[in-house]
Amino acid sequence: DDDLARLAALVRTIPDFPQPGIQFRDITTLIADPHGFALATDLLAIRAARYRPDILVAVEARGFIFAAAMARVMGLGVVLARKPGKLPGAAIGVDYALEYGSDRLEMHEGMLSAGQRTVLVDDLLATGGTLLAAAELVGRTGAIAAAALCVIDLPDLGGAKRLADAGVPVETLIAFA
Ligand code: 5GP
Repeated sequence: DDDLARLAALVRTIPDFPQPGIQFRDITTLIADPHGFALATDLLAIRAARYRPDILVAVEARGFIFAAAMARVMGLGVVLARKPGKLPGAAIGVDYALEYGSDRLEMHEGMLSAGQRTVLVDDLLATGGTLLAAAELVGRTGAIAAAALCVIDLPDLGGAKRLADAGVPVETLIAFA
């Protein structure tokens, strides 16, 4: 479809970042384009609404940008899943393996309640490790990770299947093989 082709054309590919052999899909060029950014966030919001979320959960850092714009369209708030040591209050955390290296996500305690429906938001799905960690954080609070929404999927890395196997359906707008 034309809209999705336009979005894909706004993503820049940077070879050998952050390591040799990695083709980094740079979404900052899409975010900087007013029509592309509005289109991406509108399409994400429409898809997210099907899961009837009570609140969005955004993954640091580019997930914050998309989730914030979606939340305004959807009339929802946003809970932040942050890199370690950034949150001032008492937090829960999950360690996870990345496509390159390892990391940890943290969420303030008491931000979600049991049974609350969340949709997770990030810019890009690779192995799915990051969104699985976010889903685990949500699950620990008793809330529900109803779906995960990303702009970009790297299907060769199998993230969508890993998340689906964990009970979290994934929706993405564009894919790069
Ligand atoms: P995963 O945990 O699914 O393996 O990796 C996804 C996470 O790493 C996301 O938070 C995403 O922002 C980041 N990431 C990994 N590769 C890329 C890439 O090529 N482009 C962008 N924009 N982010 C990436």
